[in-house]
Amino acid sequence: MRKIPVAGPWVTEKEIAYTAEAARSAWYERANEFNQRFERAFADYIGTRFAVSLPSCTSAIHLSVAALGIGPGDEVIVPDCTWTATAEPIIYQGATPVFADIDRDTWCLRPDALEAAITPRTKAVIPVDLYGNVPDWNALLEIAKRHQIAVIEDAAEAIGSTYHGKQAGSFGITGVFSFHGTKTLTTGEGGMLVTDREDIYRRVLVLRDHGRKPGDTGFYFEEIGFKYKMSSLQAAFGLAQIERVEELISRKRQQHAWYRRELAEVPGIRLNVEPPHTRNSFWMNTIVLDPSYGWPKEKLQRQLAEFGIATRPFFYPLSSLPAYRAFAPADSARRNPVAYEISPWAINLPSALGLTEDDIVYVCDHLKKLLKQRG
Ligand SMILES: *Cc1c(COP(=O)(O)O)cnc(C)c1O
Repeated sequence: MRKIPVAGPWVTEKEIAYTAEAARSAWYERANEFNQRFERAFADYIGTRFAVSLPSCTSAIHLSVAALGIGPGDEVIVPDCTWTATAEPIIYQGATPVFADIDRDTWCLRPDALEAAITPRTKAVIPVDLYGNVPDWNALLEIAKRHQIAVIEDAAEAIGSTYHGKQAGSFGITGVFSFHGTKTLTTGEGGMLVTDREDIYRRVLVLRDHGRKPGDTGFYFEEIGFKYKMSSLQAAFGLAQIERVEELISRKRQQHAWYRRELAEVPGIRLNVEPPHTRNSFWMNTIVLDPSYGWPKEKLQRQLAEFGIATRPFFYPLSSLPAYRAFAPADSARRNPVAYEISPWAINLPSALGLTEDDIVYVCDHLKKLLKQRG
């Protein structure tokens, strides 16, 4: 049977050559060279002053929260539907995540929901560019500024998406990216933190290396930090990927256009949106079925799997999950109605960079057949 993966990278001889070069040369006084080149190229692409290569996006979120001095007694607002790593580092720091509702079209944090979730204890908000979609940044930033709360942008899923010409990842005090093997740009595992703020940049460099200043050889530790570094082999791979980033995004956009064409005539189905003045890098092609189909996402996923088609569930509201029971009010479904309305009926369709037009037609043919039987 045909096997259609849900996510996966696009690797060329360039990545292989750069990584081999790092394996040969990136030691001794050249140990840091590929990290520096990757960070410079990445910061230039996003349009920020600084970039720090890290082992994951989770560590980038953790460092962002820590560098802002967030701790016990503080609240940080996150959209209710996101990957668990958006919220976990808030808890690592002893602070409290607060789950706010999402927008019906972009599936990102909704400005009015952000405003409603703010309390005197709110220190920060972490909007997420979900599946490559971007939120209404102007409205979110205006609210954050008025209430004097810090913004951390989780752009893990949105490299290359733009809002009024500005790159995803450049809207907050920090922006964070993931290079996990499923993401548009990958280093296998990896992440990046970008910022324009020199003080935050310097603080992150200290916190990510056991609390010592860059270049320290004295081993006289004055505070507790973390160990969050990317290897030069990963950085070399990432440098090749960032040099190809527009090619990667074009591929994603082409795949989305194929899905849009194939599913255009299907009633009661919604896909990722691309509002005016935005560019969507379409990390995950996502469908939301009309609830009138009465077709829970888990069931749809099982049926597609019978044809070798791998999918993912749209994120469950974090406030509905056992892991967050201690942080979620009992009436979360009433507070965040859109999150609870969309999540049961939505899935990510196969979006691996290696998929061809033929693969996507195959996926859509099976999906349409199942929907017709259902309808
Ligand atoms: C993938 C992802 C992360 C975490 O990335 P890692 O590199 O796996 O730590 C964080 N936030 C979102 C929204 C993600 O999709």
